[in-house]
Amino acid sequence: EPIILFEHVNKTYKNGTIGLKDINLSIPKGQFLVVVGLSGAGKSTLLRTINRMHGITDGKLYVDGDEISQYKGKALRTLRRQIGMIFQNFNLVNRSSVQKNVLSGRVGYYPAWKSILGLFSKSDRDKAVRSLRRVNMLEKLYARADELSGGQQQRVAIARTLMQDPKIILADEPIASLDPKTTKTVMDTLKSLNQEDEMTVIVNLHSVSLAREYADRIIGLRAGEVVYDQMIENVKEAD
Ligand code: ADP
Ligand code: ADP
Repeated sequence: EPIILFEHVNKTYKNGTIGLKDINLSIPKGQFLVVVGLSGAGKSTLLRTINRMHGITDGKLYVDGDEISQYKGKALRTLRRQIGMIFQNFNLVNRSSVQKNVLSGRVGYYPAWKSILGLFSKSDRDKAVRSLRRVNMLEKLYARADELSGGQQQRVAIARTLMQDPKIILADEPIASLDPKTTKTVMDTLKSLNQEDEMTVIVNLHSVSLAREYADRIIGLRAGEVVYDQMIENVKEAD
């Protein structure tokens, strides 16, 4: 059974722009899927339908066997906890410590007043340590987020999503603002979560050469449609 299944999914934004057009896509558990396409092709829209940052207009969208397109309230919160997301701009609180940023991955699990006061449990503080160790960033526990390089910040953002124990990680152009060396540390981290922790990872990328290096499968989007879909062993030099 696929962990994510799109059946005839369309997404039209309120202003009439077509985001996704008849997407049919079955993503097996544990796949490392890279989505490529020009700016505006729909990559970001595709990712954001999976955790319901965007609703879909029609079709069916299943996550782990459940049709999620009408989810509300508690079902939606539970869905979102299973799905970690990282962004091009890291979305860290710059003036806060790495530790606080990582713990913020647990904020939704506490009453608001406790998280405002920073009253996290011992088990969550231990979990933050394990998450940071997992991404090789433990030595920066007390550093301020804005003292770190871009690649380090992105790994802290990954550690923050690990606080939710996600089954799925969605990465929207995670290396778009990084240099080649730090790009590798971030992509290697995602690959290791995929291979060692069996997380399903979906990454939007501009670079086809990076896609070839890391993906199990590459799909191409153009104008909201899937125009290319190959397992890595079938990707040809000319593609
Ligand atoms: P990509 O991630 O491949 O750059 P997007 O998914 O961001 O593509 O965008 C797909 C299309 O949807 C583009 O035409 C874009 O302008 C449009 N779009 C994205 N977000 C919105 C929005 N919130 N409202 C209206 N149109 C949007
Ligand atoms: P759009 O992307 O054009 O805003 P959507 O279909 O994504 O259209 O969302 C319609 C409205 O519902 C938006 O105001 C959006 O913020 C909100 N919305 C979308 N998904 C959810 C959700 N899972 N939970 C709560 N509100 C949502």
